[in-house]
Amino acid sequence: MKKIGVIGSGFSGCIIANELAKTGKYIIDIYEARHHIGGNCYTEKDPETGVMVHAYGPHIFNTSKKDIWDYVNTLTSFKPYINRVKAVTDKGIFPLPINLRTINLFFGENFTPAEAETFIDSLADKTIADPQSFEEQALRFVGKALYENFFKGYTLKQWGIHPQHLPASILKRLPVRFTDDDNYYNSTYQGIPTSGYTPIFQKLLDHPHITLHLNKKFTRQTHGAAHDYIFYSGPIDAYFDYKIGKLQYRTLRFERHTQEGSFQGSAVVNYCQQEIPYTRISEHKFFTPWEHHTQTVYFKEYSSLAQDNDTPYYPIRLLDDKALLEAYEKLAVEEKKVSFMGRLGTYRYLDMDVVIAESLDIASKCATLPMEQWPTFPQSTSK
Ligand SMILES: Cc1cc2nc3c(=O)[nH]c(=O)nc-3n(C[C@H](O)[C@H](O)[C@H](O)COP(=O)(O)OP(=O)(O)OC[C@H]3O[C@@H](n4cnc5c(N)ncnc54)[C@H](O)[C@@H]3O)c2cc1C
Repeated sequence: MKKIGVIGSGFSGCIIANELAKTGKYIIDIYEARHHIGGNCYTEKDPETGVMVHAYGPHIFNTSKKDIWDYVNTLTSFKPYINRVKAVTDKGIFPLPINLRTINLFFGENFTPAEAETFIDSLADKTIADPQSFEEQALRFVGKALYENFFKGYTLKQWGIHPQHLPASILKRLPVRFTDDDNYYNSTYQGIPTSGYTPIFQKLLDHPHITLHLNKKFTRQTHGAAHDYIFYSGPIDAYFDYKIGKLQYRTLRFERHTQEGSFQGSAVVNYCQQEIPYTRISEHKFFTPWEHHTQTVYFKEYSSLAQDNDTPYYPIRLLDDKALLEAYEKLAVEEKKVSFMGRLGTYRYLDMDVVIAESLDIASKCATLPMEQWPTFPQSTSK
């Protein structure tokens, strides 16, 4: 049997390991630098409060792809969950995304949907014909008051870059709904795994042909030669020892607090003001409303530019990064017997459903092609 090395035990690594193991043709070693499986989707019970905590920030599963929803439901059971986010601004606390109720509360009005649409249109800055930046795009869509209260400070904190210097493409569509729909996602299927995400990964790795190595950081030098083929879901620049430069990421710091009862009465509250140093507070017992806890644990989330030893969370993907990524992509394509995958391997922000779909797709290509033709860089990074 051929020996496969899989780097990373998030959705990317665990799905490819599972799919290859099921063929009976491979033995698989999976290397994980952390002390646990699951990548950034890892959940664990908070030892003090008993609340199921999303260790790397809130994860709400959502997809409009029925096949992916069916697939994850074969791995664990899900409970329905709708993400309803609140936003704290200088003028008070409002539902997000901005919807009819937000508009009426914020402006002290009682608009019908049609009136609200006309009103927002009257606020839009029509002098901006061809918006170049995020700021111009937002001003053109919703005008100064909503931009400054809901978008400006939050974006600055989240990206560390003034919205004047972010591309207009970040805000593709009008970020306002003229109904009372405050469901954060538009996806058809949404839920949270009843017992957290970690059991999904345990199930994927539960196969006699898969050996898991925790606390084992892969490098080409240490493990590269021991396998017939490698699937790599770590950072692409790290694989090449950053030899042509470092791709930039935002990192997150989570400040933990506990108390009796509840802190904010809901799962996620965004803080839009620039003077408040954190971007949001998530109170994790509200992700499992079917459980009962007398205590609570909540996390203030701080965003900053990732330094050398920080966990990379969000790829920044500004122009410099995209040029560097293209250069790494060229190196990756030349690298024989390695597939780069997942959010770090391809340097893209990817929701879980996308990572799952891509990993299953890579696995199906590998099932039909000889190993020499397995795709080295299977997913386009141009998105
Ligand atoms: C704050 C935050 C919130 C999110 N919320 C949502 C959400 O609500 N809904 C949603 O659909 N998606 C969400 N996501 C996206 C989700 O986290 C990703 O889709 C998913 O984690 C990607 O899986 P992956 O396997 O590609 O990467 P990861 O989960 O990052 O796994 C990569 C693994 O590789 C390991 N690794 C890296 N380098 C090495 C090495 N050299 N050797 C060994 N191991 C290595 C890492 O330790 C890690 O465990 C969120 C992401 C963030 C950052």
